[in-house]
Amino acid sequence: MNQHQRLEYLNAMGLQVWLQRESILPDDVSNQPSISTIATEEMTVNNESEQPIQQVCTSNNKQTWNDLREQISTCTTCSLHKTRIQTVFGAGNQQADWMIIGEAPGAQEDQQGEPFVGRAGMLLNEILFSLGLQRNSVFIANILKCRPPNNRDPLPNEIQACRNYLRQQVEHIAPRIILALGRIAAQNLLQTTESIGRLRGLVHDYQSIPVIVLYHPAYLLRSPLEKRKVLQDLLLAHQTLRLSIKKKSDELENNSQDH
Ligand code: URA
Repeated sequence: MNQHQRLEYLNAMGLQVWLQRESILPDDVSNQPSISTIATEEMTVNNESEQPIQQVCTSNNKQTWNDLREQISTCTTCSLHKTRIQTVFGAGNQQADWMIIGEAPGAQEDQQGEPFVGRAGMLLNEILFSLGLQRNSVFIANILKCRPPNNRDPLPNEIQACRNYLRQQVEHIAPRIILALGRIAAQNLLQTTESIGRLRGLVHDYQSIPVIVLYHPAYLLRSPLEKRKVLQDLLLAHQTLRLSIKKKSDELENNSQDH
C-alpha cells in the first residue's frame, strides 16, 4: 500500500490530512510524524525490523487459551447467556502488539461470533489501516462476551462476570499497547467514572500495559467531526508504542551489559 492510497483511505474515513508546517498538536504529542508517516513507520515495526518480544507459544499456553475459549463459550454466570445466540470470544492474533477492546457484541457480532463486524467494525478496520495494521494482526475483544438485549449498556454484574475473562486474555496476549474504544470500555478497564472527554488524550495503564482511549467507532459514525480527535489519539498511541519498544530494548541492552 503506497502513501497515496493510505491518504485516500484516511480521506474516506473523513480524516483530513494536513501537511505539517509547524506542529498543531498538543505538547504531549508534538514532534509527531504526520499520519501518513505513522502508517509507514508502523509497517516497519510490524515488519520486524524491530523484533517484538514475542510471547513463547508453548503447547501449554495454547491449551490455556483453548480452555479459556471453551469456558467462555459455555459461560452462564450472568443472565445474558439466556438471550445470546453465541458468545463472542474475540478475534485476531494471539501474539499481537496491539489489543483493541470494545464494549460488547451487537446484533451482527452475536450472529457471527466475531467482534466488530458491523458498520462500526468497518470503521475500526479503517482506523487500524491508517496505522498500517491489518485486522488479523491485532487482537480485538470486548468488555462483555455476550450481547446485551437491544444493545443496552452493560450492567455492573455483567461486567463483573466477564472481568476475569478479559484479564486472562490480556495476560495471555501481553500486548504492547491497548486501545480502549468508547466510554464503557475505558471506564471499566481503567476502573474510573471519568468522562471519555477527560480520559482521551492521555496514556493510562492496565496491568502495566499502556492504554489509549479512543472514541467508539459507532459514536464516530454519528459524530464524524470527532474523527479529528481520534487522529490525535492514534498519534499518541503510535508514539507510546515506539517509546515502550525503545524502553524495553534499552533495558535488554543494559541487562546484557551487566552480565
Ligand atoms: N461494538 C463493540 O463495542 N463491540 C463490538 O464487537 C461491536 C460493536
